[in-house]
Amino acid sequence: MSDTQINGQLAFAASSEVMIDVNKMNKWYGSFHVLKDIDLVVHKGERFVICGPSGSGKSTLIRCINALEDHQEGDIIVDGIKLGKNLKNLDHIRTEVGMVFQNFNLFPHLTILENLTLGPIWVRKMPKAEAIETAMMYLERVKIPEQADKYPGQMSGGQQQRVAIARFLCMNPKIMLFDEPTSALDPEMIKEVLDVMVELAETGMTMVVVTHEMGFAKTIADEVIFMDEGDIVERNKPTVFFDHPEHERTQKFLSQIL
Ligand code: ADP
Ligand code: MG
Repeated sequence: MSDTQINGQLAFAASSEVMIDVNKMNKWYGSFHVLKDIDLVVHKGERFVICGPSGSGKSTLIRCINALEDHQEGDIIVDGIKLGKNLKNLDHIRTEVGMVFQNFNLFPHLTILENLTLGPIWVRKMPKAEAIETAMMYLERVKIPEQADKYPGQMSGGQQQRVAIARFLCMNPKIMLFDEPTSALDPEMIKEVLDVMVELAETGMTMVVVTHEMGFAKTIADEVIFMDEGDIVERNKPTVFFDHPEHERTQKFLSQIL
C-alpha cells in the first residue's frame, strides 16, 4: 500500500471519528472458541475499560486490536485500516497504537532515555536531538526526568511502568491500549501509574484499558465492558454499570472485586 493510500485511510478515519471498529469478530485457539461475536466501536477520544474474570479473553481481544493475534471471523478496523495479512498495514497499526503490558516490556540493556528515543528515531525517523527533547518532555510528564540515564532494572516497578507509558507517548500514538498495567505493581505504586493514565485521559487520548481498578474506571471510563468466557456480557456507563449491574455474572464478579 502506498503512503497516499495510507493517508487517504487516515483522512477517512479522522472524518468518521471511529478509531476502533470490531465487527462480529470470532477467534479460536485450535478448537477453543476464545472470542465470540465481539462488537466494539471506539470513537476518537473515548475511554473504554474492560474487566472480567481471568481467562475471559480480555488480553486476547486487545492483542487482536493491536494485530498481535489474528482472528478467524469478522472484521477489525483500526484507524481506518482493516487488519489482515498485509504486513505494511501491520507496521502502520504498530506505529499508531501504543500498548502497555503488565510487565513493562522495556529493553533492559538500554537506558531509559535510549528506550524512549529508539522508536522515534528508527520508526518515526525523528532527528536524534528532537527525539531526546521529546523523551525528556514525556519523562517530565510522568514525573521522572531525573531517571533518564538509569537502566530499567535500577527502577521500581511503578517507575518502569511510567517509562513504558512515556515510551509510547514519544511515538505520538493515536490509540493507547493497556493490559492490566498495574496488576504486577506493589499497592503503593499503583496510584502513581493510575495518576499518569488519568492525566493521559484528560489530554483526549483514545484508550482501551483492561483493569480491575474500579475507582479508575469510574473516573475515566466512558463505557465499562464486562467479559466472561469470550463474550461481552454487559456494557454500560460506569455509574449504571457499578450501581445497577444487570446480569448475574456481572453482579457476582463485582461482588468479588469491590
Ligand atoms: P484474560 O486476559 O481475560 O485473562 P486471555 O485472553 O489471556 O484471558 O485468555 C483467554 C483464554 O484463551 C484462556 O482460556 C487462555 O487459557 C486461552 N489462551 C490464551 N492464549 C492462548 C494461546 N496462545 N493458545 C491457546 N489458548 C490460549
Ligand atoms: Mg489477561
